[in-house]
Amino acid sequence: MKFFNKRLTMITASAAITLSLLSFSAMAKTVDTRATSTQTAAAPTITWEKSLSLLESGNKRFVTGKLTKKDFSKAKLNDLTVNGQKPFATIISCADSRVPPEHLFDQGLGDVFIARNAGNVIDDVTLGTVEYGAEHLGTPLIVVMGHTKCGACKATVDSNLAHSHEASVGIESILSKIKPSFEEAYTHTQNTNALYTLTEDLNIENSIQELEERSPILKELVEQKKVKIVGAKYDISTGKVTFEKSHD
Ligand SMILES: [Zn+2]
Repeated sequence: MKFFNKRLTMITASAAITLSLLSFSAMAKTVDTRATSTQTAAAPTITWEKSLSLLESGNKRFVTGKLTKKDFSKAKLNDLTVNGQKPFATIISCADSRVPPEHLFDQGLGDVFIARNAGNVIDDVTLGTVEYGAEHLGTPLIVVMGHTKCGACKATVDSNLAHSHEASVGIESILSKIKPSFEEAYTHTQNTNALYTLTEDLNIENSIQELEERSPILKELVEQKKVKIVGAKYDISTGKVTFEKSHD
């Protein structure tokens, strides 16, 4: 699969993110003081390797049906309210109902910071969400996770093959984000099913690249080795998440 063969330069959100006014104000302050932002960034409590290991072991439990018991008690809610959140990873995934990160990584409340949208693309809101997770919450690992049978990627392929331009403004904003991946895929194959898969894979890579290129905050955190961005793909038929393995 091309996605896993192509070297990624490193690295790697958006519907239901709720930030308290207090947190949002803190984030805005951080952005306003870019020169010293890294000094105010939350220090990761674990390494990205450990974070990745936690996600891998969680997905293994999901695949084998050996899920851990989750704590949804009032005490847990109170703890997270009083002490705040300290998620160990930021995940960008598709809005697809078959791809819920908390479930497929067997994680509980307060564990993972997630931004979701159809097609796991990087728009401005998603970019800001990921920056917030990495810089303010201190997650050492950012995962861009695509998946098999992605409807957003399929719609992009189908509309381009049909030369259809009838999408709404909202849908078009998604399709236009994925279109470069389709166009690159089309230089390799004209087989429709292969185009679906390759477009999914390239869309993961392109989202990673966009994070790196558009965010000075993430670029700096990656260069300082405070943050690692990795790609991953979820197989909706097996439940398994495969991470790209070009870690260094
Ligand atoms: Zn999808």
